[in-house]
Amino acid sequence: MDYALDDRQREFQRNLRALCEGKIRDSSEQVESRGEVPMDHLRVLAEVGFLGLLIPEDYGGNGEDMICALLGMEELARVCPSTALVAGTTLLRFGVPLLRFGSSAQKERFLSLLTTGGLKGAWALSEPHGGMDTRNLRTRARMDGEGYVLQGEKSYVLNGPDAHGLLVLTSLEGDASSADGGSAAFVIAPPVAGMEPCREIRAVGARGARVSALRFSGCRLPKEARLGGEEGPGVEELERLPHVSLMVAGYAIGVGQACLESAVCYAKERKTFGRPIVTYQEIHFKIADMHVNVDVARQLALRAAWLVDSGKDASAEASVAKLFASEMAPECARACMQIYGGKGVTQGGPVERLWRDSQIAEVIGGTSESHRLFLAKEVLERRA
Ligand SMILES: Cc1cc2nc3c(=O)[nH]c(=O)nc-3n(C[C@H](O)[C@H](O)[C@H](O)COP(=O)(O)OP(=O)(O)OC[C@H]3O[C@@H](n4cnc5c(N)ncnc54)[C@H](O)[C@@H]3O)c2cc1C
Repeated sequence: MDYALDDRQREFQRNLRALCEGKIRDSSEQVESRGEVPMDHLRVLAEVGFLGLLIPEDYGGNGEDMICALLGMEELARVCPSTALVAGTTLLRFGVPLLRFGSSAQKERFLSLLTTGGLKGAWALSEPHGGMDTRNLRTRARMDGEGYVLQGEKSYVLNGPDAHGLLVLTSLEGDASSADGGSAAFVIAPPVAGMEPCREIRAVGARGARVSALRFSGCRLPKEARLGGEEGPGVEELERLPHVSLMVAGYAIGVGQACLESAVCYAKERKTFGRPIVTYQEIHFKIADMHVNVDVARQLALRAAWLVDSGKDASAEASVAKLFASEMAPECARACMQIYGGKGVTQGGPVERLWRDSQIAEVIGGTSESHRLFLAKEVLERRA
């Protein structure tokens, strides 16, 4: 097992960090206050190659690997968590399943636009009756003549209000041909009649990443909209893709790293009793713990990304990385808050946003509970 970064990966990371520091960091407060990630951010991310990762040259991609995608998520979340989630969702929740299962026409249409930064992509799975209950989807697709009619509601869709491409997962009515017990995914280019975003949701963190519910009422789609056609994947197969867990792991690592850097910086400048607080051992311990947390999360995520790039099943390792990273980011935010003292708990202060951004990682991309259930099943049923 060797997941030391090679020259290509280092160069990608260097270029992306320069872009983040030069163009994205300065606008991140504005992204947060306006509640929107501008398309310009996607265009510059396409230029630096982030939106071409994992996608072959035929569709304008650069074919680079999952390790680069993970590094990219960390770099982006370190400066602008909203941009990380909007771009990450576009590439990893929308682009990767499309690349894996889509028809040539679907790939041509959506991936070629995605790699130029001209598209926000979305993934609509969670439903109002319970985000974890993905084996009993109430949004249904009924075969009707040459196509399908969709009916139902999705509860939280990141990029939902302004997506140009959307994957929607449904149960299938009256179709026994589904690969995994009656579910399917459809690729949609909004706006389409019968589908509308409703109830925009303001999450506590990454406030520039727009999230909404989506309502489908008699939404007619041609049969070509079904991902992978009649033999296409269902929910179970799509959920086993490790990319989403790694997307959220990278996000959490970036937020944890930002907490560490901010805490170190403040500890060096803040003086009490005539000395910088960085000279106190109690502060050393917090900084060391934050470093250990971020480093372990990074190594776990790199291991899973390396497995993906080696063509091996990485669903369990990606879940381990997601679970650990998403729980360590709030711990880092809490330690950072304590190091800032009163300023740490001040509304609008330097740590409030880091703390808010850290909170959402435990819920998106599968809750901690759902990852624990999945991992326990892996241990008890497959590896015992
Ligand atoms: C900012 C944000 C962005 C999101 N983006 C997307 C997206 O792009 N696409 C998408 O499809 N979804 C998205 N989600 C939805 C997210 O995946 C769900 O919120 C999550 O799956 C939890 O579902 P729920 O909110 O319905 O919680 P509930 O299902 O009501 O669960 C509440 C609590 O109970 C626990 N729980 C529920 N059932 C069980 C059980 N059987 N055993 C043990 N514990 C259980 C849960 O883990 C949770 O802690 C997003 C959510 C947020 C907040």
